[in-house]
Amino acid sequence: MSYSRVPEWPCDARIYRLFWDEFPEDTGYVGHTRHLLLSRRMTGHRNKAREGQKALLFQKIRERGKFQYELLETIFCQNLDEARTHEKRWYRSLKSNLNMISPFRTEDELKKYSQIRSQSSERKAQKKAYYTSPEGKAWWKAYNARPEVIAKKKAYYAQPEVQTKMKAYAARPEVIVRRKAYEATPEVIARKKAYEATPDVKAKKKAYAEKLSATPEGRAKQNAYAAKHRAKPESKVKHKAYLAKPEVKAKLKARYAKRYATPEFKAKREAYLAKPEVKAKREAKRKAYLATPEIKAKLKARNATRGTRVECECGSEVRRDSLSRHRKSKKHLKLIQNLEKINLAV
Ligand SMILES: [Zn+2]
Repeated sequence: MSYSRVPEWPCDARIYRLFWDEFPEDTGYVGHTRHLLLSRRMTGHRNKAREGQKALLFQKIRERGKFQYELLETIFCQNLDEARTHEKRWYRSLKSNLNMISPFRTEDELKKYSQIRSQSSERKAQKKAYYTSPEGKAWWKAYNARPEVIAKKKAYYAQPEVQTKMKAYAARPEVIVRRKAYEATPEVIARKKAYEATPDVKAKKKAYAEKLSATPEGRAKQNAYAAKHRAKPESKVKHKAYLAKPEVKAKLKARYAKRYATPEFKAKREAYLAKPEVKAKREAKRKAYLATPEIKAKLKARNATRGTRVECECGSEVRRDSLSRHRKSKKHLKLIQNLEKINLAV
């Protein structure tokens, strides 16, 4: 077997320590190799140092030059993981200060390791604790407000495949149920109301509605939306209650009166009322109204009292239904004048 070739696992692993006699404060570096000769591995370290690798060990080699090394143990291992376990045991017992990470990993392995670690429940709990703490929240807020982060997010969510994914997620029954429950909580309702009451949101909404109503399609969309809203039983009840409020009634009346006062509106209304079908409809409505039992009873009662005669304060006897007309008559005024004269004389 050639000395330069590295045997395949399972094989002997040699665990070594690299150090400097002239720097006894350093406990050194612990590693392992499958090379039969440790010197091969040391050549590898020297080469890496020369290439300018940043790890602490290579910095020290560049600074200090020639180093010493010793074999700690030769142990037959099934695989890399097992060799690392033994290496770690030595690293821990010697507290080798030039090893930066335990167990000694390559960059790719480190990435994998950090991924596994970040997925671990412990790490997750740590993250959650941080992000729900005041300083974590503040950090997150500041992070999300960074222009480059906003731009990145926007670009991400604008991707068609992301949009599709998000839509599919939002359409999931359990997600819909969850969202509805969330939106029905008092805090969320209050927050939404407060948000919609802000001037810029109001202005935005108004601008949007104006833009919509500028086109026939937009208006159709608005009408359809309003009709859908009106069709809801709770909306009907709410609307009725709204219209029954005295201040609303007064407002509507004033608005109608103002509108009715314009000549165009009057003309329009007259033209409308002159239409034969409208006339027929109104006449039918009037008849139907007069035919209702309550109205019939009311009319009957009024007619019954119409003919009865009552005495006016002037002394004359008049029909009840012509009493107000009589009070304006010359006869009544004269009689009253006479009565006043008599009163003064007495
Ligand atoms: Zn009278």
